[in-house]
Amino acid sequence: MDNESHDKFYYYLRLMRLRRYFVIMTLVFPLILIVILKIFGLNESHVAIVVPVIVFPVSLFLGLKLLANDTCPWCKAGFFINSAGSFGDGVSLVFRKRCSSCGEPKEYPSKNQK
Ligand SMILES: [Zn+2]
Repeated sequence: MDNESHDKFYYYLRLMRLRRYFVIMTLVFPLILIVILKIFGLNESHVAIVVPVIVFPVSLFLGLKLLANDTCPWCKAGFFINSAGSFGDGVSLVFRKRCSSCGEPKEYPSKNQK
């Protein structure tokens, strides 16, 4: 694998990691937070206030960061958002592994390729 495609793939992995943080913070983190708050003995009305106050700014920040980095390293178009400018069904932001415009990466480079 040449240097240029290595850089592109590195950027791609960074994008995937950013998206993973976003999904975890939005879906999993609130559940963990609720369990922790329950352990500390907070009642429902407190949990209903504390959880959104902590989770919302964090997921908003990560979501904006993700969209700011939403550039395909191969074709420079939106990776998660297609050229029509829509999220599609919204699920693609969470599950998309290939570019919405060019379909890269077509194959994962194996570790023994350098
Ligand atoms: Zn692309």
